[in-house]
This record gives sequence, C-alpha cells and structure tokens, in this order.
Amino acid sequence: MIGAGIVGAACALACARRGLQVTVLDRGGLVAGTTGSGEGNILVSDKAPGPELDLALRSTALWQEWEGELDRHVGGGIELERKGGLIVTRTPTGMKALATAAGDLGELLDERGVHELEPELAPDILGGAFFPQDMQVQPARAAVAMLAAARELGAQLRLHTEVHRVRDLEADAVVNATGAWAAQFGTAGPVEPRRGFILVTEPLPVLIRHKVYSAEYLENVASGDAELQTSTVVEGTPGGPVLIGATRERVGFDRRPNAEALRRLATGAAALFPFLAGVRIMRSYHGFRPYSPDHLPIIGPDPRIPGLWHAHGHEGAGIGLAPATGELIADLLSGGRPTLDPAPFSPARFLGVPA
Ligand SMILES: Cc1cc2nc3c(=O)[nH]c(=O)nc-3n(C[C@H](O)[C@H](O)[C@H](O)COP(=O)(O)OP(=O)(O)OC[C@H]3O[C@@H](n4cnc5c(N)ncnc54)[C@H](O)[C@@H]3O)c2cc1C
Repeated sequence: MIGAGIVGAACALACARRGLQVTVLDRGGLVAGTTGSGEGNILVSDKAPGPELDLALRSTALWQEWEGELDRHVGGGIELERKGGLIVTRTPTGMKALATAAGDLGELLDERGVHELEPELAPDILGGAFFPQDMQVQPARAAVAMLAAARELGAQLRLHTEVHRVRDLEADAVVNATGAWAAQFGTAGPVEPRRGFILVTEPLPVLIRHKVYSAEYLENVASGDAELQTSTVVEGTPGGPVLIGATRERVGFDRRPNAEALRRLATGAAALFPFLAGVRIMRSYHGFRPYSPDHLPIIGPDPRIPGLWHAHGHEGAGIGLAPATGELIADLLSGGRPTLDPAPFSPARFLGVPA
C-alpha cells in the first residue's frame, strides 16, 4: 500500500481483516497528506443517486460498524458524531432545487423548520433540507486508528519511506493510495490537486448543532471549474472551534495563501450565522483534494500494469468514502464477491478499455 492517508489506512485495515499480508509505505509521517486537512464530513446529502451515493451509503454503514474498534485505538476516540446535515437556501429557486436533492434521504423544511433545528441561522433563510444520515469524524484520529487496528492484525507500517517506482516493490499487488499525488506513478486517471481553504474560529459554546451548508455547495462539488469557487459550509467541532469552508480551485500544489478565498469564507459564514461576525478566527489552513475529472473515485486494477491497483481520486469526499473504498479493494484483492459493483470506479474508464 503506498500512502498512509485515510484511503490507504482503510484499504490496509480491510485487507488485513481478510488475512492479506499488508505493508503500508508513506514518504511522510502520520497523516502527512490531505487527510490532515480534511473537515471530516461523512455525507450522503451532497451526492446524487448513482455509484458515488451507493459508495457513500455503504461507507456510512461501515463507519458505524468500525467505530467501536477504531475508538479503542486512539485516545479520545475518532469523534464520530451522528449530527445530520442541513442544506439551506434564501430563494424560492433554491427551495425547488432542494426538493429534488432531498430525494428519499432528506426531509424538506420550511423557514420555521430550519430555525428550529439551527436557532442562530440568519432570519432571511427561507428553508432547507435535512439529512439525518450525515455524520462527522475527526479524520486524523480516524486514519491513525485504522492504521493501528491494521497493525494489530499484522500489517506493517513504514513511514518516511518514499516510493519512486512501483516496480521496485516486491509484492503481489501494489495499491496506489497517494491521493492528490497519484499521477506520479503514471496513474490510469488524470488526478490533479484541487485546493481548499478552511477557517478555524476560537473555541465557542455549542451554537451550531449540525453540518450546515448553502445550496450552492452542491453545484460547486459537481463542477470541475479551475477558477476559485466558494460556498458556505459551517460546522462545530467537539473541541469548540467552528470550521468554515469551502473553497475549490485548481492551481496545482500552490501553497501560498489566497486572501480573496479567506475573505469570501468569512463573509459567507457571517451571512449564514450572523453571530460569527463577532468571533475571532484563530487560523486558516489548506489542503489538496485529489480531483478526478468525472467526480468518481478511481478504484481497482490498472489494466496496463499487472499487479498495480488504484484507490484515489475521491476529491472532497475521501474521508467519508474511505471505509467502502477499503472494503472494495479488499473484496477484489481477496477474490471475493464485491459488496458493490466495481465497474463505475474502474481505472479502465479513462483508457477506453473494458473494466
Ligand atoms: C479543505 C478540505 C476539506 C475537506 N473536507 C472533507 C470532508 O469534510 N469530508 C471528506 O470526506 N473529505 C474531505 N476532504 C477531502 C479529503 O480530505 C480527501 O479526499 C482525503 O483526505 C484523501 O485521502 P487519501 O488517503 O487519498 O490522500 P492523502 O491523505 O493525501 O494520503 C496520501 C498519502 O500518500 C503519501 N505519498 C504520496 N506520494 C508518495 C510516495 N511517492 N511514496 C510514499 N508515500 C507517498 C503522502 O505522504 C500522503 O500521506 C477535504 C479536503 C480538503 C482539502
């Protein structure tokens, strides 16, 4: 397994559980990549019916199944919160879009309903859709716990070990779980980084109870625009700070701050929750989402290089989708019948060859 982020960690745990011999290599320390920058939402609310939603629903079940074991491996636990997600809008057009987005999983709410759920929301919010299945986890804790659980089952972890060429590794199968850096091994799919900034407030009492986001977020997630896109995503954390996202832009691995992105985040959050205008921002950080052009992760064997497997390209959903990705890799590597149809995720789709 190359990569000890949440995806590599979940693959390692799922494979170790099947009795496979696993070694995880990472050029950095623990959570050295994007997983250390993820917000930790486990969402079904931002996914349209189809393979990604199927993967998300399976992952949601697995997070809850794995929770007890993972909590045991990290002090304070993985902070899995079944808080639910609330998408809100100010416009009648937004309400119409939410009526479609709610589908079977969401509940449409009027103005009173959203303010009952989130009393601090701005008064001009017209309504929303509530998704009780949305959850949140602390991604770094979760990845560390998965690696510890895998090690307990015999997996080996080698940090500060960079892989330069896949063919240098002695293994029956090599899984490329290097996230936004996956293209370095001539990956089957054109994965590239999509930068995101987050603002972190000072610790606050619990005034925001759910993950709350504006309806434009759905459009930004689905779009592939390279230009800066901002939608407002706000949520509390068990430690007290409120996390404010989300920006998306394809600017390579550019680590320089973007004042405009941070300004837009702050303005959007204060428009959604007016009390945030008087709150101090402690810090901001950024990370690189592993962007896949068709918005589906790339999971499965490389049709060109026998023994090379891929598990990357989850963009802004890699935390949420990690357990089901790990399970799918383990299903396929151990020759078992996959729980989900692997075809939509196959790396072959970018090469025009059968899966
Ligand atoms: C601002 C922001 C907010 C986000 N919020 C959410 C969210 O709320 N919910 C959600 O589900 N997702 C979220 N994401 C997305 C999520 O963080 C990613 O999809 C996920 O972390 C990807 O995990 P990964 O294991 O594929 O990659 P990474 O965590 O990047 O792990 C890849 C690893 O590969 C290692 N590596 C790379 N090259 C080599 C090499 N040559 N040799 C050895 N090791 C190598 C790296 O050191 C790294 O540790 C967010 C992302 C950002 C940036």
